[in-house]
Amino acid sequence: MTADDFWTGSRSAAFGGTTTVVPFAAQHRGMSITEVVADAMERAATEMTVDYGMHLIVTDWEDPAPGEFAAVAATGLAAVKIYLTYDRLKVPGSRAIELMQAARAAGVPVMVHAEDDAIVGWGRDERVAAGRLGADSHAYSHSRGAEWSGVAQAIALAEAAGASLYLAHISTPQAVDLVLAARRRGVDVVAETCPHYLLLDESAYDSPIETAAPFMCSPPLRGPAERAGLMAQLAAGDIAVVSSDHSPYTMDQKLPGGPATAFTESANGLPGVELRLPLLYTAAVADGPLSMGDFVRLVATNPAKICGLYPRKGSLQVGSDADLVIWDETAWTVRGADMHDNVGYTPYEGMELQGKAAIVVAGGELIVDEAGRAIRPGRGEFVARH
Ligand SMILES: [Zn+2]
Repeated sequence: MTADDFWTGSRSAAFGGTTTVVPFAAQHRGMSITEVVADAMERAATEMTVDYGMHLIVTDWEDPAPGEFAAVAATGLAAVKIYLTYDRLKVPGSRAIELMQAARAAGVPVMVHAEDDAIVGWGRDERVAAGRLGADSHAYSHSRGAEWSGVAQAIALAEAAGASLYLAHISTPQAVDLVLAARRRGVDVVAETCPHYLLLDESAYDSPIETAAPFMCSPPLRGPAERAGLMAQLAAGDIAVVSSDHSPYTMDQKLPGGPATAFTESANGLPGVELRLPLLYTAAVADGPLSMGDFVRLVATNPAKICGLYPRKGSLQVGSDADLVIWDETAWTVRGADMHDNVGYTPYEGMELQGKAAIVVAGGELIVDEAGRAIRPGRGEFVARH
C-alpha cells in the first residue's frame, strides 16, 4: 500500500546518490514467507534500477513460517524485521525469541521496531476516549518512554536468544545508551537513526492534522535535546547507521478523512531515501561535528557490513562494485516537485541544504549526471547476504 514501488523508490534513491537499497518483503498474517519473498524478488528483478538486498518482515511466526525460515534465509536475506507494537504486525515475546533463535541459526540479524505495545496502546486509548484525535496524540502515544521500554525489551529478547540485533529508526539518545550498556556486557546489538530525527521537530504536531500529517512517523519526531544527543552519539561512533526508513505514503493515504482524519487513521511514515545523504551531510558534516569519513561510514560502509554486502558494497577497492558518487557541496533548496519518488510531497519543502550527489555511477555505469540519466527499471541486481 506504499506510494512507491521498487521502480519509483529505487529511482528516487539513485537520484539521491544511494546506489544500493535494502527494502522489505512484508508478510501479512496467514501468508507463506516463501511466497512473500519470492513475490518481492520477482517484482524487484523487473523494477529496481539500483542494486538491492532484501529484508523480510515477519508478522506471523506460526506454522508454516518456522519450518520455512531456514530455506528462505538461505536465499540471502539481509535481515528479518519484527514489530513489538501494532496489532496487525506484532510478534509476541516468546514467539519473538523463537524467531530470533532461528535467525541466529541462519546467520541473519534481527531488526526490531522497538516501541512498547502497552504504552502505545494505553496512550492511544486514553486520547481516543477523551476525543483528542489530533496529531499531538500520535506523539503522546508513541512516547519517548515507549521507545525506551521497547528497546529494553528487544535487547532482552535478543540476549535470551543469542541473536544479532539491529534496532531500526532510533529517535532518542537514551535508547542508544541502552544499546551501549548492552554492548558492554557482550550483546551483539547496533542502533540506526534517520535524518528526520536529526532535523525535524515535534512542534510540527501542534498543528491541525492536514498540516501535521506530512510529519507523522513512528517513532515520532522529538525535540532539540534529542537531536543534540543523537548528534553527539553519531560523532562518538555510538550509532552504526543512518538510514532513510523510507516509508512513502501520499497525502490521500495520510488524510483518508480529510481534515476530519483522526491520528489513528493516518498512515505513519516519511519519504526519505532521496534526501538521506544531503540531509545528513547538512546536519552532521556542514553544520555538525562529523568528518566526511564518518559520513561515508554511516551511510555506506556500516550498512553494507551489517547487511552482509561488504566488501562488494560499501568499499572503494579493487574487486568491489564501482558504485561512486561525486559530491557537490553547493547549497540548494528542496522542492517537492523535484523529487523522483511517487509521494507528492516532502516534509523538507523549502529547506536549504548543503551538498548533493551531482554524478552517480553504479556498477561502473553513469546513471545520473547533469546532462543525462541512464536510469531504467530492471538494471539493478540482487546482492545476497554472505
Ligand atoms: Zn519500523
